[in-house]
Amino acid sequence: MSIKPAIFACAPTSYNADGDCACPDGGLSPAIPNIAPNIAAQWRIPPDLVRTRLDEEHTLIFSPTGQSGPVVVNRTAAALLDSFRSACRLDGFVLPAGVDPADGAAATQRLAELSLLVSGSMDAGALERKSPQTLTAWLHTTNACNLACSYCYIDKSAEPMSEETGRQAVDAVFRSALIGGFRAVKLKYAGGEATLNFKLVMLLHAYARGLAQQHNLALHGVVLSNGVALTRPMLDFLREEDIRLSISLDGVGETHDRQRAFVNGKGSFTHVQRGIDRALAQGVVPFLSITVTADSAAHLPAAVAFALDRDLPFNLNFYRDHTAIAEPAALRADNERLVAGMRAAFALIEERLPQRRVIDSLVDRSAFHEPHEFACGVGHNYLVIDQKGGVSACQMEIERPLTDVLASDPLAEIQLHSGAWKNVPVTEKEGCRDCDWRFWCAGGCSLLTQRVTGRMDIRSPYCDVYKALYPDVLRLEGLRMLKWESERH
Ligand code: SF4
Ligand code: SF4
Repeated sequence: MSIKPAIFACAPTSYNADGDCACPDGGLSPAIPNIAPNIAAQWRIPPDLVRTRLDEEHTLIFSPTGQSGPVVVNRTAAALLDSFRSACRLDGFVLPAGVDPADGAAATQRLAELSLLVSGSMDAGALERKSPQTLTAWLHTTNACNLACSYCYIDKSAEPMSEETGRQAVDAVFRSALIGGFRAVKLKYAGGEATLNFKLVMLLHAYARGLAQQHNLALHGVVLSNGVALTRPMLDFLREEDIRLSISLDGVGETHDRQRAFVNGKGSFTHVQRGIDRALAQGVVPFLSITVTADSAAHLPAAVAFALDRDLPFNLNFYRDHTAIAEPAALRADNERLVAGMRAAFALIEERLPQRRVIDSLVDRSAFHEPHEFACGVGHNYLVIDQKGGVSACQMEIERPLTDVLASDPLAEIQLHSGAWKNVPVTEKEGCRDCDWRFWCAGGCSLLTQRVTGRMDIRSPYCDVYKALYPDVLRLEGLRMLKWESERH
């Protein structure tokens, strides 16, 4: 056993789930920052601390209301932490036998900085909402697509977004960004299939870059693609412009083909695989968006192996019902099947622990990068603009625009006219208010909950799945950190 206390944390470099949905931005932080812990205050272990034994020597510790995400400690550090079961001064710890007092003091200071020790002013009630910094917009560059996926909710047509509408859309996004005091704009070039109108993507990104420079805003771009028609010139453009690429891949071979076939019924897997490998060869690392349905749940390990083989970031994204789908409920995996499929995928990840932090995007919309009240950015930092210039709150509501690109502030209009549903904070959801996981799951997608249960202020239909999987996800991240982070400390 090591006598020196060891504490490994791994800060998320960036929240990288580049899927269809809008990432939540503007999470929760302590009202009083915990930068220089006050030694004289009374410190204690937060009541909701989660502990998972990783091996004889190490434990993963996670504070669901804290800022630090998962932390791995060795036995000595765990013993120091336990000195604070009853509140005491930060220097009032019980020094384990043989430990240097200076090491003990440094370790307790570190535990406090990581919110694994809290003083009276820093528990869950003292969290405050941060303002979102990035306004994200889905630009529906075309309503056409070369695939006919089983769960697609777009009522497709051949109609592209025109250059004029595209420029108006980008203008509208920047207007709302400036009025709302955002610091960055993120454009998601989507559809339909964005590569079918790639000239417009190139043109709009150049136009947006000019506006971003003019207004001193950061600009991020991501192309959401099915991956079947990516050409080398497209990939060169993405690399040179630093635009991210997200590709939907639901499995390997027939699993993918059953969910994501061409319009003529032929499977698209070999085309997508070629697109991914071509992207890698051109220096573009795609993010894989893996949608989990009743059919694909049992085949998740193959999809995850595909991503790990190529060291690709990915998200296991649970299917969401939509009225445009013929039999929406039939595609949703029952909870038991979903948990079994996810656990099989986790087992594979455990065998091949990646260097890349996986916890932030492993389980559906769950994000462990910071505590947050909303599952996504709808109504706060998100606009969806269709090919005609209509603006709606969410891409799954694209058929119901609430305003258009000529509005002086489309985001304000969305906030005013949220329609039949709204993005409910987890603190207002029945069943969620006292849940330990509330700031990580945020109660799940409010739109899905409304469609399945008829209510939006209630826990997610996937709640039991989240609760079953979160301890496993934390353990997995702990093992990954033990393998890779310990070498860095
Ligand atoms: S409401 Fe649901 S489907 Fe729409 S962006 Fe949010 S999480 Fe995604
Ligand atoms: S949906 Fe379930 S897991 Fe998520 S916050 Fe609500 S009760 Fe907790």
